[in-house]
Amino acid sequence: MTMRRDRTPRPAAQPGRHRDDGHGLWRYADRVAVRCHRCDTPGWVTGSSSSRRFRCLGCSEALDGGSGCGCGRCASGDWVGPVRYSGYRPCGYCGHKWVSIEVRRARATMPLRTLAADCSQCGRSSEVDVTLSRWRGNDAIDRDFGLPLRLVEKTAAGLVWAYNAEHLQALHDYATATLRHGSGRNGSMFSRLPQWMKLARNRVLLQRAVERLQRRLLGER
Ligand SMILES: [Zn+2]
Ligand SMILES: [Zn+2]
Repeated sequence: MTMRRDRTPRPAAQPGRHRDDGHGLWRYADRVAVRCHRCDTPGWVTGSSSSRRFRCLGCSEALDGGSGCGCGRCASGDWVGPVRYSGYRPCGYCGHKWVSIEVRRARATMPLRTLAADCSQCGRSSEVDVTLSRWRGNDAIDRDFGLPLRLVEKTAAGLVWAYNAEHLQALHDYATATLRHGSGRNGSMFSRLPQWMKLARNRVLLQRAVERLQRRLLGER
């Protein structure tokens, strides 16, 4: 998987029409505008998919990693974002299978090894060994380190976030189109947009939010 930017010009767009090119979200992730999780200074996550880096110009925080397969478990390298602890075991009292637990934390500041979970059968509490995994969800964080994204805008319908200028432009093209053609590919960035962004009645809302982010990015560069 390469992350080189495609320099070929886009086919001339017909006004009002949008055609999904089928590219996944990762295609927009070669440079990701983030904030340092320690000092809030704006910065960038850069590098190839196998070697990603973040260097903070404010506090000299340095993060390195590769994105692995993206499953959240096998990825290697630094992670400062949300985590999930989960585990299961037979009940220590009645043997009921299973007593399970899952909790999320904003950071893995005090790594947990075990958590207490109640048995749904006998109601008694057992200590369950838990393992830690990265929690990406749909949060406005970068996929490599879990840093907060810089280009985030609240709207009445939901959150808009983007990685960089190219990503914003793609969302803008989408927002301004009155006729949209899908790519037929399930994993494409456009097919995975939240439902509210796909509704015709939210076109202007989305467009305005993207334009605010575009202006902010120009001001921060
Ligand atoms: Zn910093
Ligand atoms: Zn039990």
